[in-house]
Amino acid sequence: MIPYSFGGNKARKSQLFFEEIDNGDYDYVVTYGSSHSNHCRVVANMAAERGLKCVIIGPSEVSDSTYNSIMMEVFGAEIIVVPVEEVSRTIDNKLDELRQSGHRPYFIMGGGHGNIGTKAYVRCYEEIKQFEIDNDLEFDYIFFASGTGTTQAGLVCGQLLYGDDRKIIGISIARKNPRGRDVVIDSIREFLEAEPNVELGKDITEDEISEKTIFLDDYTGDGYGADNVEIEDTIQKALIMYGMPLDSTYTGKAFLGMEKYIRENHIEDKNILFIHTGGTPLFFDDLNKMRR
Ligand SMILES: *Cc1c(COP(=O)(O)O)cnc(C)c1O
Repeated sequence: MIPYSFGGNKARKSQLFFEEIDNGDYDYVVTYGSSHSNHCRVVANMAAERGLKCVIIGPSEVSDSTYNSIMMEVFGAEIIVVPVEEVSRTIDNKLDELRQSGHRPYFIMGGGHGNIGTKAYVRCYEEIKQFEIDNDLEFDYIFFASGTGTTQAGLVCGQLLYGDDRKIIGISIARKNPRGRDVVIDSIREFLEAEPNVELGKDITEDEISEKTIFLDDYTGDGYGADNVEIEDTIQKALIMYGMPLDSTYTGKAFLGMEKYIRENHIEDKNILFIHTGGTPLFFDDLNKMRR
């Protein structure tokens, strides 16, 4: 709940990407994502704040108007919509075109994936540890919505670097295993390989990485972005009981998955942290569609 562009994991990741942009000599930011993308909205916001040009390439299959896409327009982003199979080529062409005309574009992977995004959640893990010290408690479980797995990779890297014993559980919102979990593990390895004080395989073993990476694909429902009555009820209940906005694509699905996991595994008398990964504009899209 950091106070920038509705907070969330894309705001945390983007802060670090823009540190690099601010320290470099760039005049364009290029990224990709759908019209529902929290990442694209935050990147467009941070670019606009700095007077940098922002280009967003998105799939025409998911290009309906949402609060995120309206904000991207407000931020003056150039939005290029192409069929999903042309997204990758369009990005390459756009970057070439900008460079050839003398511009200096900075490219950010969709969702803020990559070591910089992972680092943002190693830092978040450190904030959680500080919160535990300040409040004299320890979380036995940490739950959150896992998509590209960057958020999860950062948290697990934090846990491995500090040698903590607890369960960090990513609730997959779309990907199935083994791929979903493999992507998280790849991001963890990639980050730790770049860490100067860590020798992979010795200081931190493959077995430890494997043991700590819990990516549950039991609660994906009908796939990415697919809503159902159970998720909608969870969103309503969280709003009424906690005054907390959840959305059907990420946080609502993960919150429901967490509740089910706790019940199915008879977890009792434990301290549980649910990380709200943001996406409040999506909550308002859902609110417009909600049964009354
Ligand atoms: C992108 C996103 C996620 C998934 O984060 P990853 O780091 O890609 O796993 C979760 N929740 C919200 C609200 C998001 O926007």
